Amino acid sequence: MRALLFDFGGTLDSDGGHWFDRTCRLYADHSVPVDYSHLKQAFYAADEALEADPGVRTLGLRPLLERHFAIQVRRLGLRGADVAALLAQEFGRPMEECLTAARAALERLRPRFRLGVVSNFYGNLAPILDEFGIAPLLDVALDSAVEGVRKPDPAIYHLALSRLGLPGKAVCMIGDSLERDIAPARALGMRTIWLHEPEKSAPAEKYDLEVVRLADAVEFLERATERSETAAGSPA
Ligand SMILES: [Mg+2]
Repeated sequence: MRALLFDFGGTLDSDGGHWFDRTCRLYADHSVPVDYSHLKQAFYAADEALEADPGVRTLGLRPLLERHFAIQVRRLGLRGADVAALLAQEFGRPMEECLTAARAALERLRPRFRLGVVSNFYGNLAPILDEFGIAPLLDVALDSAVEGVRKPDPAIYHLALSRLGLPGKAVCMIGDSLERDIAPARALGMRTIWLHEPEKSAPAEKYDLEVVRLADAVEFLERATERSETAAGSPA
Protein backbone atom coordinates (compact mmCIF):
# COMPACT_ATOMS: atom_id res chain seq x y z
CA MET A 1 0.00 0.00 0.00
CA ARG A 2 1.62 3.24 -1.09
CA ALA A 3 -1.09 5.84 -0.63
CA LEU A 4 -4.15 6.49 1.50
CA LEU A 5 -7.20 8.46 0.40
CA PHE A 6 -9.56 9.81 3.04
CA ASP A 7 -13.07 11.10 2.82
CA PHE A 8 -13.52 14.37 4.77
CA GLY A 9 -17.07 14.70 6.22
CA GLY A 10 -17.78 11.89 8.67
CA THR A 11 -14.22 10.57 8.36
CA LEU A 12 -11.66 13.25 9.23
CA ASP A 13 -14.16 15.54 10.98
CA SER A 14 -16.05 12.84 12.94
CA ASP A 15 -15.73 9.15 13.74
CA GLY A 16 -18.28 8.03 11.17
CA GLY A 17 -21.07 10.57 11.76
CA HIS A 18 -22.66 11.93 8.59
CA TRP A 19 -23.29 15.71 8.65
CA PHE A 20 -27.05 15.25 8.35
CA ASP A 21 -27.25 12.69 11.17
CA ARG A 22 -25.15 14.99 13.37
CA THR A 23 -27.42 17.91 12.45
CA CYS A 24 -30.53 15.92 13.49
CA ARG A 25 -28.98 15.06 16.85
CA LEU A 26 -27.96 18.68 17.40
CA TYR A 27 -31.51 20.03 16.92
CA ALA A 28 -32.81 17.33 19.28
CA ASP A 29 -30.10 18.01 21.89
CA HIS A 30 -31.02 21.70 21.90
CA SER A 31 -34.76 20.98 21.91
CA VAL A 32 -35.26 22.90 18.68
CA PRO A 33 -38.68 21.76 17.48
CA VAL A 34 -38.33 20.45 13.91
CA ASP A 35 -39.81 17.58 12.03
CA TYR A 36 -37.42 15.14 10.40
CA SER A 37 -38.60 15.52 6.81
CA HIS A 38 -38.57 19.33 6.97
CA LEU A 39 -35.12 19.29 8.49
CA LYS A 40 -33.92 16.96 5.76
CA GLN A 41 -35.27 19.30 3.07
CA ALA A 42 -33.73 22.34 4.77
CA PHE A 43 -30.37 20.62 5.25
CA TYR A 44 -30.05 19.53 1.61
CA ALA A 45 -31.33 22.90 0.36
CA ALA A 46 -28.50 24.53 2.32
CA ASP A 47 -26.05 21.98 0.91
CA GLU A 48 -27.10 22.76 -2.67
CA ALA A 49 -27.13 26.53 -2.15
CA LEU A 50 -23.60 26.50 -0.74
CA GLU A 51 -22.26 24.20 -3.46
CA ALA A 52 -23.58 26.60 -6.09
CA ASP A 53 -22.24 29.75 -4.38
CA PRO A 54 -18.77 30.81 -5.57
CA GLY A 55 -18.58 33.10 -2.52
CA VAL A 56 -18.06 29.99 -0.41
CA ARG A 57 -14.71 29.13 -2.00
CA THR A 58 -12.61 31.11 0.46
CA LEU A 59 -14.60 30.43 3.63
CA GLY A 60 -13.10 28.77 6.69
CA LEU A 61 -15.01 26.20 8.73
CA ARG A 62 -16.98 28.44 11.13
CA PRO A 63 -18.26 30.86 8.48
CA LEU A 64 -19.24 27.88 6.30
CA LEU A 65 -21.22 26.32 9.16
CA GLU A 66 -22.82 29.67 10.02
CA ARG A 67 -24.05 30.02 6.43
CA HIS A 68 -25.26 26.40 6.35
CA PHE A 69 -27.26 26.73 9.56
CA ALA A 70 -28.56 30.19 8.61
CA ILE A 71 -30.10 28.71 5.43
CA GLN A 72 -31.54 25.74 7.34
CA VAL A 73 -33.06 27.92 10.06
CA ARG A 74 -34.55 30.31 7.49
CA ARG A 75 -36.08 27.43 5.51
CA LEU A 76 -37.49 25.93 8.70
CA GLY A 77 -39.07 29.26 9.61
CA LEU A 78 -37.44 29.26 13.05
CA ARG A 79 -37.43 32.51 14.99
CA GLY A 80 -34.47 33.94 16.77
CA ALA A 81 -31.40 35.26 15.02
CA ASP A 82 -29.12 33.47 17.45
CA VAL A 83 -30.37 29.94 16.78
CA ALA A 84 -28.27 29.47 13.65
CA ALA A 85 -25.17 30.90 15.30
CA LEU A 86 -25.59 28.67 18.35
CA LEU A 87 -26.14 25.54 16.24
CA ALA A 88 -23.13 26.35 14.04
CA GLN A 89 -20.99 26.80 17.12
CA GLU A 90 -22.14 23.55 18.70
CA PHE A 91 -21.75 21.64 15.42
CA GLY A 92 -18.29 23.08 14.88
CA ARG A 93 -16.73 22.41 18.27
CA PRO A 94 -16.48 18.58 18.08
CA MET A 95 -15.47 18.90 14.41
CA GLU A 96 -12.53 21.08 15.34
CA GLU A 97 -11.43 18.55 17.96
CA CYS A 98 -11.69 15.71 15.43
CA LEU A 99 -9.81 17.64 12.75
CA THR A 100 -7.01 18.42 15.19
CA ALA A 101 -6.79 14.70 16.06
CA ALA A 102 -6.97 13.80 12.36
CA ARG A 103 -4.02 16.07 11.62
CA ALA A 104 -1.96 14.27 14.28
CA ALA A 105 -3.01 10.91 12.80
CA LEU A 106 -2.03 11.98 9.29
CA GLU A 107 1.32 13.21 10.59
CA ARG A 108 1.97 9.71 11.96
CA LEU A 109 1.05 8.10 8.63
CA ARG A 110 2.93 10.60 6.51
CA PRO A 111 6.37 8.91 6.67
CA ARG A 112 4.90 5.65 5.36
CA PHE A 113 2.24 6.70 2.87
CA ARG A 114 1.34 9.37 0.38
CA LEU A 115 -1.90 10.94 1.54
CA GLY A 116 -4.97 12.48 -0.04
CA VAL A 117 -8.54 13.60 0.56
CA VAL A 118 -11.48 13.02 -1.81
CA SER A 119 -14.60 14.84 -0.69
CA ASN A 120 -18.04 15.88 -1.86
CA PHE A 121 -17.66 19.41 -0.55
CA TYR A 122 -18.60 23.06 -1.17
CA GLY A 123 -15.57 24.42 -2.99
CA ASN A 124 -13.69 25.43 0.17
CA LEU A 125 -12.08 22.14 1.14
CA ALA A 126 -8.62 23.62 0.47
CA PRO A 127 -8.92 26.60 2.86
CA ILE A 128 -10.37 24.34 5.56
CA LEU A 129 -7.58 21.78 5.18
CA ASP A 130 -5.19 24.70 5.44
CA GLU A 131 -6.95 26.09 8.51
CA PHE A 132 -6.39 22.82 10.39
CA GLY A 133 -2.80 22.29 9.24
CA ILE A 134 -3.76 19.26 7.15
CA ALA A 135 -3.04 20.67 3.68
CA PRO A 136 0.79 20.44 3.92
CA LEU A 137 0.51 16.71 4.74
CA LEU A 138 -1.40 15.88 1.55
CA ASP A 139 -0.29 14.98 -1.96
CA VAL A 140 -3.77 15.41 -3.43
CA ALA A 141 -7.05 17.01 -2.29
CA LEU A 142 -10.13 16.78 -4.48
CA ASP A 143 -13.23 18.84 -3.76
CA SER A 144 -16.25 17.84 -5.85
CA ALA A 145 -17.41 21.45 -6.25
CA VAL A 146 -14.01 22.40 -7.70
CA GLU A 147 -13.58 19.27 -9.85
CA GLY A 148 -17.15 19.29 -11.17
CA VAL A 149 -17.66 15.61 -10.35
CA ARG A 150 -19.06 14.02 -7.22
CA LYS A 151 -18.57 10.71 -5.48
CA PRO A 152 -19.66 7.97 -6.17
CA ASP A 153 -18.78 8.83 -9.79
CA PRO A 154 -15.60 6.81 -10.47
CA ALA A 155 -14.24 9.79 -12.43
CA ILE A 156 -13.28 11.59 -9.20
CA TYR A 157 -11.35 8.51 -8.05
CA HIS A 158 -9.67 8.19 -11.46
CA LEU A 159 -8.57 11.82 -11.07
CA ALA A 160 -7.14 11.13 -7.61
CA LEU A 161 -5.24 8.06 -8.85
CA SER A 162 -3.88 9.88 -11.87
CA ARG A 163 -2.66 12.79 -9.71
CA LEU A 164 -0.99 10.28 -7.39
CA GLY A 165 0.39 8.41 -10.40
CA LEU A 166 -0.65 5.11 -8.82
CA PRO A 167 -2.92 2.21 -9.75
CA GLY A 168 -5.96 1.45 -7.57
CA LYS A 169 -4.32 -1.60 -6.04
CA ALA A 170 -1.59 0.60 -4.47
CA VAL A 171 -4.14 2.74 -2.63
CA CYS A 172 -6.47 2.35 0.35
CA MET A 173 -9.66 4.45 0.67
CA ILE A 174 -10.93 5.29 4.16
CA GLY A 175 -14.49 6.64 4.41
CA ASP A 176 -17.81 6.52 6.22
CA SER A 177 -20.07 5.97 3.21
CA LEU A 178 -20.38 2.52 1.69
CA GLU A 179 -22.07 4.03 -1.36
CA ARG A 180 -19.85 7.05 -2.01
CA ASP A 181 -16.48 5.98 -0.61
CA ILE A 182 -16.17 2.24 -0.30
CA ALA A 183 -18.02 0.75 -3.30
CA PRO A 184 -16.50 2.99 -6.00
CA ALA A 185 -12.99 2.68 -4.55
CA ARG A 186 -13.27 -1.11 -4.46
CA ALA A 187 -14.47 -1.12 -8.06
CA LEU A 188 -11.14 0.49 -9.00
CA GLY A 189 -9.14 -2.13 -7.11
CA MET A 190 -8.44 -0.10 -3.97
CA ARG A 191 -8.42 -1.58 -0.49
CA THR A 192 -11.09 -0.06 1.72
CA ILE A 193 -11.61 0.79 5.38
CA TRP A 194 -15.17 1.59 6.36
CA LEU A 195 -15.38 3.97 9.35
CA HIS A 196 -18.83 3.89 10.88
CA GLU A 197 -20.77 4.72 14.02
CA PRO A 198 -20.97 1.71 16.36
CA GLU A 199 -24.70 1.15 15.78
CA LYS A 200 -24.27 0.75 12.01
CA SER A 201 -23.41 -2.52 10.32
CA ALA A 202 -23.11 -3.97 6.83
CA PRO A 203 -22.21 -7.34 5.31
CA ALA A 204 -18.48 -8.04 5.58
CA GLU A 205 -18.12 -8.55 1.82
CA LYS A 206 -18.78 -4.84 1.23
CA TYR A 207 -15.45 -3.60 2.69
CA ASP A 208 -11.99 -4.90 3.60
CA LEU A 209 -11.84 -3.61 7.17
CA GLU A 210 -14.34 -1.86 9.43
CA VAL A 211 -13.48 0.47 12.31
CA VAL A 212 -15.46 2.74 14.62
CA ARG A 213 -12.64 5.24 15.23
CA LEU A 214 -10.23 6.86 12.81
CA ALA A 215 -7.49 6.08 15.34
CA ASP A 216 -8.19 2.34 14.90
CA ALA A 217 -7.66 2.64 11.15
CA VAL A 218 -4.39 4.48 11.74
CA GLU A 219 -3.18 1.82 14.16
CA PHE A 220 -4.05 -0.95 11.69
CA LEU A 221 -2.24 0.82 8.84
CA GLU A 222 0.87 1.41 10.94
CA ARG A 223 0.96 -2.23 12.04
CA ALA A 224 0.40 -3.42 8.48
CA THR A 225 3.42 -1.45 7.23
CA GLU A 226 5.54 -2.67 10.15
CA ARG A 227 4.63 -6.27 9.27
CA SER A 228 5.45 -5.78 5.61
CA GLU A 229 8.76 -4.04 6.45
CA THR A 230 9.70 -6.92 8.74
CA ALA A 231 8.78 -9.44 6.06
CA ALA A 232 10.77 -7.54 3.42
CA GLY A 233 13.82 -7.25 5.71
CA SER A 234 13.85 -10.86 6.92
CA PRO A 235 16.19 -13.43 5.34
CA ALA A 236 14.59 -15.48 2.58
MG1 LIG B 1 -18.38 11.17 4.50
